[in-house]
Amino acid sequence: MTVEKTDIGLIGLAVMGENLAMNMESRGFSVSVYNRSTGKVTKFIDGRAKGKNIVGAYSLEELVAQLKRPRKVMMMIKAGEAVDRMIDTLIPLMDEGDIIIDGGNSHFPDTIRRTKYVESRGLLYVGVGVSGGEEGALKGPSMMPGGSEGAWEHVRPIFQSICAKVDDGSPCCEWVGENGAGHFVKMVHNGIEYGDIQLICEAYHLMRDYLCMGADEMHEVFKAWNESELDSYLIEITRDIFAYRDSDGEPLVDKILDAAGQKGTGKWTCEAALDEGVALTLIAEAVFSRFLSAIKQERVEASRILSGPHGNFQGDRAAFLEDIRAALYASKIVSYAQGYSLMRSAAQTYGWKLNYGDIALMWRGGCIIRSAFLGEIKKAFDKNPDLSNLMLDDYFKRALENAQRGWRNVCAGAALAGIPVPAMSAALNYYDGYRCERLPANLLQAQRDYFGAHTYERLDRPRGEFLHTNWTGEG
Ligand code: NAP
Repeated sequence: MTVEKTDIGLIGLAVMGENLAMNMESRGFSVSVYNRSTGKVTKFIDGRAKGKNIVGAYSLEELVAQLKRPRKVMMMIKAGEAVDRMIDTLIPLMDEGDIIIDGGNSHFPDTIRRTKYVESRGLLYVGVGVSGGEEGALKGPSMMPGGSEGAWEHVRPIFQSICAKVDDGSPCCEWVGENGAGHFVKMVHNGIEYGDIQLICEAYHLMRDYLCMGADEMHEVFKAWNESELDSYLIEITRDIFAYRDSDGEPLVDKILDAAGQKGTGKWTCEAALDEGVALTLIAEAVFSRFLSAIKQERVEASRILSGPHGNFQGDRAAFLEDIRAALYASKIVSYAQGYSLMRSAAQTYGWKLNYGDIALMWRGGCIIRSAFLGEIKKAFDKNPDLSNLMLDDYFKRALENAQRGWRNVCAGAALAGIPVPAMSAALNYYDGYRCERLPANLLQAQRDYFGAHTYERLDRPRGEFLHTNWTGEG
């Protein structure tokens, strides 16, 4: 009896792998599955996968033998060294033109290196960023694939079938670019997620401590915001969090320790920005804010030593709430503008031909940062693929103009009230810095030349002509 070969092999039956396998099967693909601890294979095949077109494999040899050619093997395993070891084990088992796919949260330089390595062995490699958590993996994630371009035609039918779709049916998955491009874009997505979350938390902080609002009231505000241009998954879950009650009937959110965790992808995004020389100030503040939150005990002690204002808001609360909404929206525009600037710079560095409209579409559904707003970003880049900064697009330029008064009110009000709004202020400072024709860096250059003979250029001389002055007159 000949056993029919399967469409794809999946390695790693933790939460993401299991759900992706179920998703693929539900879309009509046959899947072979393998896990290092093979007990999980049996458990899956006899449990969730029972009666499905999913076949268990108890060794990598068995897995590879079950696959149609060109073979496609997708790893959903712990990122890092495990991926390198798995690649080394798979290569001798596979043939020229077969495809190894890494769907984990790998760091993009690793994917650049691995693509080169796997290609040098005659195989193709795909590093695909998968966003949307376990629910996304099951129902339709946002997928950002990059790597060996020749692999795209083979993985495309599967990826575009299992991924999230936007309202008009477009898939939230397009080819991003060579080698590490997919994982890079996924990393920036995660950084933007840090920024979006931080902005919402700052709005919450102002509502709770300045406007003295309770959870029910905040639930109503977020409900209304979710029907505005802020319509997004993160606003929606925030609305629901405020409505959730603990067993004693009190809002659960009030009982959660204010010390944030992180897995490091925000840090990677900031490191990439530093490497590229791009001002990614909002995401950096979001990462630093998590660090500051984590030193809870130190903050508790400092709160008893360091002084500051403590006043409640006096004035028109409804108007200030509207200002907070404006500040959140404007800051979000800046955050995406910065994220896109980082992608533009990296595209040049690594030779990727990124399609920025497609990237907005990939993030439009399935992932944590999905929002109506991304539809506008797509339109902006479809209109002008060479847009140097998102803030310069007509739609966003106008949105920033409209939000500006409220945004400034919030940053000033928060400063006077002693409530930290690092991301909103970073965004406003970036906006003011970016639109400033003459920054004070002339003085900075003078200082550098004074103490270190680092030279400077003059406004009245051609760029590239570097001069030095003997500032002290000493010989
Ligand atoms: P995970 O906890 O990151 O990893 C567990 C899986 O990796 C298990 O199947 C484990 O096998 C396998 N594994 C670990 N070390 C291995 C090694 N040396 N050789 C072979 N297999 C090894 O699982 P996950 O949460 O499902 O995530 C999978 C990947 O997707 C990760 O890269 C993660 O960062 C990424 N991701 C996760 C999410 C999420 O929401 N969880 C979202 C997007 C992306 P054993 O059972 O034998 O230990």
